[in-house]
Amino acid sequence: MAAPSHQGEAVEAEGSAGRRGSSGVEVVLSPDPTVPAPLCPHGPTLLFVKVNQGIEETRRFYACSACRDRKDCSFFQWEDEKLSEARLAAREAHNRRCQPPLTRMQCVERYLKFIELRLSQRKFCQRCQQLLLPEDWAEHREHQVLGDISVTQLKRPSHLLYPLENKKTNAQYLFADRSCQFLVDLLSTLGFRRVLCVGTPRLHELIRLKASDDKESNIKSLLLDIDFRYSQFYMEDSFCHYNMFNHHFFDGKAALEKCRAFLQEDEGKGVIMVTDPPFGGLVEPLAVTFKKLIALWKEGQSQDDSRKELPIFWIFPYFFESRIRQFFPSFCMLDYQGPKGPQWTSASTSREGEFHCGQELKMVDYDNHVLYKHGKTGRKQSPVRIFTNIPPNKIILPTEEGYRFCPLCQRYVSLENQHCEHCDSCTSKDGRKWNHCFLCKKCVKPSWIHCTVCSYCAAPHHSCGGPKDGCFVCGELDHKRTTCPNISSSQRANNTLFFRAVRKQKQRKSNKMELETTKGQSMNHTSVRRKKKEKGKSPSISLLLNVQ
Ligand code: SAH
Ligand code: ZN
Ligand code: ZN
Ligand code: ZN
Ligand code: ZN
Repeated sequence: MAAPSHQGEAVEAEGSAGRRGSSGVEVVLSPDPTVPAPLCPHGPTLLFVKVNQGIEETRRFYACSACRDRKDCSFFQWEDEKLSEARLAAREAHNRRCQPPLTRMQCVERYLKFIELRLSQRKFCQRCQQLLLPEDWAEHREHQVLGDISVTQLKRPSHLLYPLENKKTNAQYLFADRSCQFLVDLLSTLGFRRVLCVGTPRLHELIRLKASDDKESNIKSLLLDIDFRYSQFYMEDSFCHYNMFNHHFFDGKAALEKCRAFLQEDEGKGVIMVTDPPFGGLVEPLAVTFKKLIALWKEGQSQDDSRKELPIFWIFPYFFESRIRQFFPSFCMLDYQGPKGPQWTSASTSREGEFHCGQELKMVDYDNHVLYKHGKTGRKQSPVRIFTNIPPNKIILPTEEGYRFCPLCQRYVSLENQHCEHCDSCTSKDGRKWNHCFLCKKCVKPSWIHCTVCSYCAAPHHSCGGPKDGCFVCGELDHKRTTCPNISSSQRANNTLFFRAVRKQKQRKSNKMELETTKGQSMNHTSVRRKKKEKGKSPSISLLLNVQ
């Protein structure tokens, strides 16, 4: 899921404005295949190019695929840069040092030992986020340690581990139980027998819990995630340490083979991929990765099945609809926005106090996301949707949660989403009723008005024509910096430019009140960061976390 954002309407604008002609940094999608990308601790890096007013600069560079903050991975190399043997060796050593302290095998062995222990001996170090064997106890004596770890707790690692909320890398936002339950029920109703969970640890664990409780629903699940902590709880056939931005298996060929076998089992029948990537991430590399997973699945198909597609659920904000459909034209966006109707509070491991950014969006179905969580604190509907290539008429959304079937669109939509006769579709994207604009020839948000200066519909207080209210990174008007699809690379390359832009904007806003708001927000961020740092101060946790 997502990096939260600070803005209201602008963020939610349909992501339709063309990105061409804009400035920022883009991933080079088809780099020369004979030139292998250099490696960072997170596997092959990606090649980026800086774009100025739609024109690509000639000097391209490699940077980390997974981390959208240089603090998390500082890799940088110009495409044409020649490195000395000494620097290459140093880099290799650094990459090795950043790998997890234990091999996948060692994790499995430790787990098998752990479950043999008596309940009173089963301990978990909260500081190091690690299951402890008796020989480890002394080392963690001073740490906060949980005892009597039950089988049930072992089966729910996402409740035992704290979520890694670091927006620029993990952005780990866990489904609230009810949303997760909805997904599991849906998968089982649709008849799937295997689920490839890419960045969905809580879904993975719920599927496995159900399978072990109820022999009827015997769905299997394989989790691919960059969060190495999960390798303590799963055997090799149910977890692979994986980077979804470059399709990198940290444990090499053996892990890739597990994934291949899982996808190709039963000639590839009955399997679906479900993914919920950090939404500060770039759509392009994700699409490239998913196409590789699709190809892996396809290899196992017989010839006559060649037109079949691997079923996919891609959970992502609705304003990425056009980007996703660029890569996957057969995908449609479901209207499911999490449970509606009477408010309910999720069984919460909420970290509300720690995570106040003062933004306006709220997502219904995440457990640890203060603004996107369903409940009393909620202000708005969730921007997160399911994108899928499964025909939407097969996906029944619950009437008791405020959905109905539209026979014209042949899909379930939220009650407020009315069928527009001019567009011939149920056009709302955000759970509110949208209005048709005859000048724009499409439906727009209820609050928007047609602006004669811009000649399109926009939020009432938008500033006409100027990019100054748009995204600092790429200049687009349809989003702000924090949800910029280019943020990973751009931030790296453009940090100075960005801060200059911020400074300029602050100068422009000499209005004292405005200044205070800005200050308040950055203070909050500082305190969040400080808290995270404290958690990370023990050497073993940083070892564990560095490689995520
Ligand atoms: N809602 C999901 C969790 C989504 S949060 C659930 O409850 O199951 C995003 C997930 O993607 C996290 O688990 C995070 O560890 C993982 N992730 C982040 N970056 C990743 C990367 N580069 N490769 C693989 N997984 C990644
Ligand atoms: Zn990296
Ligand atoms: Zn410890
Ligand atoms: Zn319309
Ligand atoms: Zn209009």
